[in-house]
Amino acid sequence: MFKTLKDIDVSGKKVIVRVGMDVPVDEDGDITDDTRIIDGLPTIKYLLKKKAKLILLTKIGRPKGKRVERLSVKKTAAKLSKLVGVNVKAFDECVGDKVEAVVNNMKDGEIVFLENVLFYKEEKEKDTKFAKKLASYGEIYVNDAFSSSHRDTSSMTLLPKLLPSCAGILLEKEIDALNNLLENPKKPFIAVLGGAKVSDKIKLIENLLKRVDKILIGGAMAFTFLKAQGISVGESLVENDFIENAKKLLKSGKIVLQVDVVIADKMDAKAKNKTVSIDNIENGWLGLDIGPETVKLFSSELKKANTIVWNGPMGVFEMDNFAKGTIEIAKSIEKSKATTLIGGGDTISAARKAKVEGKFTHTSTGGGAMLEFLEGKKLPAIEALEKSS
Ligand code: AMP
Repeated sequence: MFKTLKDIDVSGKKVIVRVGMDVPVDEDGDITDDTRIIDGLPTIKYLLKKKAKLILLTKIGRPKGKRVERLSVKKTAAKLSKLVGVNVKAFDECVGDKVEAVVNNMKDGEIVFLENVLFYKEEKEKDTKFAKKLASYGEIYVNDAFSSSHRDTSSMTLLPKLLPSCAGILLEKEIDALNNLLENPKKPFIAVLGGAKVSDKIKLIENLLKRVDKILIGGAMAFTFLKAQGISVGESLVENDFIENAKKLLKSGKIVLQVDVVIADKMDAKAKNKTVSIDNIENGWLGLDIGPETVKLFSSELKKANTIVWNGPMGVFEMDNFAKGTIEIAKSIEKSKATTLIGGGDTISAARKAKVEGKFTHTSTGGGAMLEFLEGKKLPAIEALEKSS
């Protein structure tokens, strides 16, 4: 197990906090959703109370090793200043003389925000010199970025080797929620999976099958399973290379597939569409949402559950024509008495569209990291924390 903030004396110390403030921004770099800043507040407030000196570090978007102005941390730092009532100084670099001059003279309770760490190619390259320079600014390292914990990069896996380290409050909460889900789920435990590709989620399904009572599958990935059962799926998205895998997984007897489907003659918000039973998909048509009978079937399963995990939409929820199935399932999960855990960018957007965002026992801040954890993989940044002194 890794250390947490309670195990380390941070009072008056310079603490480098790798936060997960990877906010979505528009073309002008304006923040379109500040949830990821708000999620990071408990750790920041705790450290402020302890009169630590905070040096924050995050990635935003995918700048690929060069400066991209709209992905700068400036607006995130400004937003954070308002939220904590402390002026957060943003730098336009992560390492360098300017940073050095300021961090060497920081006062207790001061906060600085280093520039987007992905502006430096050294972050992905795991450059030791870069990591050592960063480490020289602090006395303690805190990982509070669950969403990047599946990444083996300088700020995620080298810093904990170079400084005494611990998990922040958000990271600890994420790991606890996921561990509980895998280790002590109250049964019946039901997983709801959807989205585009089976190939992305084979390992996840395999690992979940060892633990869950049922997996309800919707979205495009259902069609590979349906085809594996000999059902004609028309033009629906199918991954033919995974039909054999699908057949094996179906043998578990735990997979529940859709019984009806909203089909259209093309994937278009204005396309002609109709609802048919699953064995009536016509040639030339494709399935883009689960139908009302499936909503009933899935919802009745969900009513019996004591633990639910949900990842992936039941259809092309971005288009209103094909959003109903996902919205209804989101509502059923929200209404359930079960412990509920959801995660993934599309899944959270779908929950927002269903107006049930934030109403689950736990909403994971990491899509990729959550999936890898649920696949049973060890996340490199978590391993690095565990090994840290
Ligand atoms: P993923 O990233 O694998 O969770 O996939 C999410 C995407 O799957 C969303 O953008 C959905 O529009 C898409 N999707 C869900 N159901 C279908 C479907 N029946 N056909 C095509 N795309 C779908």
